[in-house]
Amino acid sequence: MQQVELENFKKILLEKRQAILDNNLEHRKSMENMHDLSFDEADQVAMHMKNTLDSSIFTRHNTELEYIDSALNKIEQGVYGICEMCDEPIAKERLKAKPHAKYCIVCREIVEKNSKD
Ligand SMILES: [Zn+2]
Repeated sequence: MQQVELENFKKILLEKRQAILDNNLEHRKSMENMHDLSFDEADQVAMHMKNTLDSSIFTRHNTELEYIDSALNKIEQGVYGICEMCDEPIAKERLKAKPHAKYCIVCREIVEKNSKD
């Protein structure tokens, strides 16, 4: 993958990450009636949330957050866009739809079938 494409995916992933953190923050605020929490404290809240996964929204968002963090790590390590199962490159169209995808389409189907059983 070209550097410019990697940078683009990185930007998308970082924006997605921030959106989830903001969303979590809003959710937490409304849940706990926290007073005057600034966005500077968002990171602190995100850390705190790991200990208090008490809603499905948090769980879903945090799973996505983990995928995004792992995708960002892969960009740093130069292995972004490679399927974790078969080591083949993931189709760019798929990455555009889901930039934190871990598997290519073929492996994704296998994983989904297995998790349903
Ligand atoms: Zn694969």
